[in-house]
Amino acid sequence: MDYQELTLSYFLTDILGVNLKSIAVSFIVIGVVLLFLMVNWVVSDALRRYKDTTIAAIWGLTVLLTNVIGFVLYIIWRPVYTMDEEDAYNLYKKYLEYSLQGIKTCYKCSSVLEEDSLFCTNCGAQVAKKCTSCGQVNDYLAKFCKKCGKQFKATKR
Ligand SMILES: [Zn+2]
Ligand SMILES: [Zn+2]
Repeated sequence: MDYQELTLSYFLTDILGVNLKSIAVSFIVIGVVLLFLMVNWVVSDALRRYKDTTIAAIWGLTVLLTNVIGFVLYIIWRPVYTMDEEDAYNLYKKYLEYSLQGIKTCYKCSSVLEEDSLFCTNCGAQVAKKCTSCGQVNDYLAKFCKKCGKQFKATKR
């Protein structure tokens, strides 16, 4: 240490009561905590996006070793949709395909249903509603009865 460093250290330690070492230690502690939070977030996010858990583990390790660089790479490379979103999209696609063919299916689980079904026989979801004034079976999303025009209350999906 030269004279200048010594005076600075003396000034900080004795006059301000600040210990340079403890400042350095707290920076390292904060850095490590942030790194672990980042790794934790990346792994749990990756588990929702990849079918293979090894890939999630590899991403976690990458972030652990490369810190922010790995984190940025993950954000760029990760699949846009989570598996849940992808499943929902595929189900919806199947539902649309069947409806175009005139086959009634459950919007929730895609089971093929009979034309007059009010509830899904596989998952129990309400797939249609009966008009309270004329008895006509309407689509579960219908706002008005297709036979008598009675207005339905809003349907929750
Ligand atoms: Zn169903
Ligand atoms: Zn009606």
